[in-house]
Amino acid sequence: MVRKRSGRRNENRKDKANSSVVQLSNIINSPKEYRDRIRDVAARDLLKLGKKHGTRGNSETNSSICRMCKSILIPGLNVKIRIRDKSVISTCKRCANIKKRGPTFHMELNDND
Ligand SMILES: [Zn+2]
Repeated sequence: MVRKRSGRRNENRKDKANSSVVQLSNIINSPKEYRDRIRDVAARDLLKLGKKHGTRGNSETNSSICRMCKSILIPGLNVKIRIRDKSVISTCKRCANIKKRGPTFHMELNDND
C-alpha cells in the first residue's frame, strides 16, 4: 500500500510550478511558434505562478512582461525603448507603464518584490 505523506505535497506542487515556469518561458520566448495572444496568456500565468509559489522565470523573460497590464512587451510593437543615463527605459504602449532597467541589473530583482 502506498501512503502519501502530506509533507511531500508542497514539494510536488513546487516542482509542478517550476516545470510550468519553464514551459511558459519557452512559449514566451518563441514568438515564431506561438501567437502573441497565447504568449500574453502565458505571461499572465507566469506572473500568477510567481506570486503563488515564489517561482519565476529567468530575468530576461520577466523583463519582457509588463507588470501593469501583464502583456508581453515586443520592441517596436507595443513597447518604446529608450536609453538614458545608461539605463534602459521601456514604456508600455498599452498601459503607459514605465520601467527602468540598469545600469545595475541586479537592482531590478529587488525592485519587483
Ligand atoms: Zn503595460
